[in-house]
Amino acid sequence: MKKVDLIVPCYNESQVVNIFFAEAKRVTDELSGYQFSFIFVDDGSSDNTLELLKGLADRYDCVKYISFSRNFGKESAMYAGLKNSTGDYVVILDADLQHPPKLIPEMLEAMEEGYDCCAANRATRDGDPALRTLFTRGFYRLVNKISEVDMPDGAGDFRMMNRAMVNAVIAMSEVQRFSKGIFSWVGFKTKWISFENVERAAGVTKWNFWKLFSYAIDGITAFSTFPLKIASVLGAIISASSFIYLFYIIIKTIFVGKDVPGYASTITLMLFIGGIIILSCGILGEYVAKIYMEVKNRPVYIIRQTNVDEPKDDYRV
Ligand code: UDP
Ligand code: MG
Repeated sequence: MKKVDLIVPCYNESQVVNIFFAEAKRVTDELSGYQFSFIFVDDGSSDNTLELLKGLADRYDCVKYISFSRNFGKESAMYAGLKNSTGDYVVILDADLQHPPKLIPEMLEAMEEGYDCCAANRATRDGDPALRTLFTRGFYRLVNKISEVDMPDGAGDFRMMNRAMVNAVIAMSEVQRFSKGIFSWVGFKTKWISFENVERAAGVTKWNFWKLFSYAIDGITAFSTFPLKIASVLGAIISASSFIYLFYIIIKTIFVGKDVPGYASTITLMLFIGGIIILSCGILGEYVAKIYMEVKNRPVYIIRQTNVDEPKDDYRV
């Protein structure tokens, strides 16, 4: 019998974990021929999410929980879930039922057809704030243009993967993780299915504009060095134009004579070039910061409590 692990990152989800479990259990109970287990990852919740998860684990053998020492973010929670999964197939779902468990049978069908991965894509963003939709769209357009990976708009982390793909994803051990990019980078045969956007069952979203914005910058810098090229190209254009201008001034001084006024143009040029230099330093800084965080090689997550038999931590060497 094939084993399927459901990985569920939870951060302050006390309002939904039980609703989620009831729904997911209902769906999986109807599927014969598979053995399902749940791996809930409590990402340092400050409410009683962990107590609820322990309650579920007491009542059901198929429930495992991993609780972090603090909030590490959804990326870390997914990574911990994947590292601690043993199933032949693994599916990652949000705790708020925005990733409907009723898609699991369809995903399993795709896996049996021979796909390595079945990823669900939100057909619409109905119900999301307009500004968020606008920026997300822009982000996907940009990232797909300038990076080596292809990330379809609306592609979340809701997907089922087979063991081979999960192992490949785990092997990408970067500390600053951007799973949407990683899933695409590792390749494998992926089937896309789409689903209607649903509102969160209860509770509130853990994202705000700045969190999403910095996540977007992380996504771009993690999979593309294009911003560094912008800096070089701007530098080259400005140097070339200043040489031409220099040549023009020399010729003009020889033939027409000296021309003292020029305060406005000097200031404008200084500010312009200064701006470009600062921008380039900023872009460079983003990458240097990334290198800095990676070389420190800190663990992606720290487990405080778990009922997993042989928990895999992420202490790096
Ligand atoms: N989540 C997490 N750690 C965080 C933030 C979120 O594990 O720091 C989980 C959260 O509990 C949920 C999933 O990630 O299961 C998606 O979060 P949310 O619903 O807040 O995001 P949205 O659906 O608004 O994008
Ligand atoms: Mg959600």
